[in-house]
Amino acid sequence: ISELATRGRSLRTARDQALRAASTDALTGLSNRRHILALLEALLPKAGQHCIAIVDIDHFKHVNDHYGHPFGDLVLVDFARHLQGQLRRSDGVGRLGGEEFMLILPDTPLPQASLVLGNLLASLQLPRHIGEQAAFRYQFSGGITRLLPDDTVQCAYHRADQALYRAKQGGRNRVELG
Ligand code: GH3
Ligand code: MG
Ligand code: MG
Repeated sequence: ISELATRGRSLRTARDQALRAASTDALTGLSNRRHILALLEALLPKAGQHCIAIVDIDHFKHVNDHYGHPFGDLVLVDFARHLQGQLRRSDGVGRLGGEEFMLILPDTPLPQASLVLGNLLASLQLPRHIGEQAAFRYQFSGGITRLLPDDTVQCAYHRADQALYRAKQGGRNRVELG
């Protein structure tokens, strides 16, 4: 019996690990695309003022081209830590793909979300130690939107993405509201 119990436990552990792996981005340890979009879906029907943001590292192709892809990976990991470090435990952050991330800010009105993103931008203006680079600087652009009644994942995503596009068009290293 105890052997069966042990085997049951290790099966559960294996299952839990598999479930966690299926929702995690392997490089950064953040939620992966599927998981962060599922979190957004779950937030949509909840009462309150919620915001999401899409953030995208500026000129990331240049980082890869000049410092190499492995260094680019280190920048992605640094950015993931930076985001996670500044957000609340109740916020969500996931990697949508490449150098693009989604933030989910529950119970956060738009002006407050805007402040949060502004702080993320501001704190990245200081150079950072990444890999062999003692003082490396990178920036990002972001699009924020608040969740609307009867919103869908697609609609909210689209508004944030449009706002991000405007931030890029407007010169990068900035956040736009959409
Ligand atoms: P923009 O300021 O307009 O966002 O320009 P950008 O160069 O950041 O954007 P672009 O989409 O032109 O390039 C993104 C690059 O990100 C291209 C791709 O090779 C790189 N990339 C995507 N995923 C990864 C990854 O996992 N690791 C690394 N190192 N690079 C990646
Ligand atoms: Mg980019
Ligand atoms: Mg991109």
